[in-house]
Amino acid sequence: MKLILLGAPGAGKGTQAEILSKELGIPTISTGNILRAAIKEGTPVGLEAKHFMDAGKLVPDEVIIEIIHERVAAEDCKNGFILDGVPRTIAQAESLEKAGIVFDDVVSLEISDEVIMERMSGRRVCEHCGASYHVVAVPPKAEGVCDKCGGALIRRKDDEPGTVKARLEVYHRETEPLKEFYAQRGLLRPVENQPTVAENSQAILRAIGR
Ligand code: AMP
Repeated sequence: MKLILLGAPGAGKGTQAEILSKELGIPTISTGNILRAAIKEGTPVGLEAKHFMDAGKLVPDEVIIEIIHERVAAEDCKNGFILDGVPRTIAQAESLEKAGIVFDDVVSLEISDEVIMERMSGRRVCEHCGASYHVVAVPPKAEGVCDKCGGALIRRKDDEPGTVKARLEVYHRETEPLKEFYAQRGLLRPVENQPTVAENSQAILRAIGR
C-alpha cells in the first residue's frame, strides 16, 4: 500500500499519517520531519534547508528528491509507506513516477485557509520525535510533554502567522496543481475536513476503501 497525503500546511497530514501508519502497519515518511532532524544534527542538508524553511519557502527539489528516494529504498518500506508532505511540486511527483513508484491512492485533505490560520496558532510538535499535537484538538497527556517519547513540545518557528500565510501561498501555487496531476491518473481522493481528528481518519479510510 503506497499512499500520498496532500493538503495545505496545518491540514492535519502529520496527525492523520501517524494514525494511518498504525492502522495500515506501514511507515510514514515526512520530509518536514527528516529536514528538521537534519537541522538539529547540523548536517549539510540541514544547513541548506534551514533558511528556506524558516521563510516558509520550499526546499529545492534536488534536495528533496535525493532524500525521498533514499528513504523509500529502506527495508521498512518494502510493504508500502505513507508520504506526508511530499511530493510538493510537479517535479517531485514526476521524479517518483520516473522511479517506477506506483501509488494506490492520493488523499487530498480539503480545508479552508481561514480554518488553517486559526488552527496553526495551537499546533505544537515534539522537539525530539516530531509527533504533532494541538493545544485544544489533540492535547498531550501532560502539558508540554510528548506522549510518545517524553520530549519537549515546542511551537515551530514556521508556524508564526506571517510564515503560515507565506506557506499557504506556496501551497496554492506549487502544490495544489498536484491534485490535477493525480486526478488525471485516477488516484485523487478528496476528503473534506471533519469536525474531529477521529472523523477525519474515518473519512480517509472510507476514501481509500478500507
Ligand atoms: P512540513 O513539516 O511538511 O510542513 O514541512 C516544513 C517545511 O519543510 C516546508 O515549509 C518546506 O520548507 C520544507 N519541506 C518539507 N517537505 C518538502 C518538500 N516535499 N518539498 C519542499 N520543501 C519541503
